[in-house]
Amino acid sequence: MGEFELIRRYFFPIAEAGSTSAVLLGPGDDCAIQRVDPDSDLVFSVDALVEGVHFPHHYDPEKLGWRSLAVAASDLAAMGADPACFTLALTIPDADPDWLHAYARGLATAARHFGLSLAGGDTTRGPLTLSIQVHGTVPREQAIRRSGARVGDYICVSGTLGDAGAALHYLSSGNPGPDEQAVLARYHYPEPRLSLGSALRGRASSAVDISDGLVADLGHILEASGVAARLEVGKLPLSAPLRRLAGQEAVNLALNAGDDYELCITISPEAWRFLPENVRSELTIIGEIVSGEGLTIMHDGHSQALPAGGYDHFRN
Ligand SMILES: [Mg+2]
Repeated sequence: MGEFELIRRYFFPIAEAGSTSAVLLGPGDDCAIQRVDPDSDLVFSVDALVEGVHFPHHYDPEKLGWRSLAVAASDLAAMGADPACFTLALTIPDADPDWLHAYARGLATAARHFGLSLAGGDTTRGPLTLSIQVHGTVPREQAIRRSGARVGDYICVSGTLGDAGAALHYLSSGNPGPDEQAVLARYHYPEPRLSLGSALRGRASSAVDISDGLVADLGHILEASGVAARLEVGKLPLSAPLRRLAGQEAVNLALNAGDDYELCITISPEAWRFLPENVRSELTIIGEIVSGEGLTIMHDGHSQALPAGGYDHFRN
């Protein structure tokens, strides 16, 4: 099968998967065309996922289809952007129709779910690598940046943390129990917080998605905003399956493990009071922004200080 036929068969259907009418011209020409409203800003980001680095060797292609788009879409959520479309550069060792069919199925399911349509792409031979560029829009000047955190703001996270990190222990387990299945689902099918992100526009002072771990990603906000933070470990939202599986280690996973794709945001106490209840209920306050530099972690009456720049390898 030639390259063009391969793309047409498996990927053209995904061009219709999204709900957006912003794509005037999808795959098949030299470029795609996206119409951008004059009162909007275009927000875009590219992610490359490499086999053996960002996902395991021989990873299920259907799960990879979902996960590869979810990971990219999560960056749109962090900016408060409404999803529009994406492009895919697919590097594959060989054109295995079964693999392509399963990958395209997972990708199409995710594309429909997130409201992203495939606008174009490219395929090449080589070690398995998926590069996805996502486009979204926000009303002019309303993208949520990392640099807006202010002293006195609450620090909040969505959902629960640490589940995807715990799942790494069970990826090759033959017969996972219910708790293991629950955390594995968080790893295989991350849910980017797109509607939460857009609901936080004009409300959150800063935001980041948690791809590398809470401490590391909150660290990006602190550095961009020139502030410090105090975190209360006892307030971290932990799922029941994670608590049962990981015990004492659950806190470390929630602080340091990546792959959850929840949002970490800052918000002033006043804006928090005015949040609609359905938005507030998706968030947990875990600490506050303070003046200075670095991150202080409060745990059972003890405090541990991490200097600015020391966020990458924290172990509680
Ligand atoms: Mg990100």
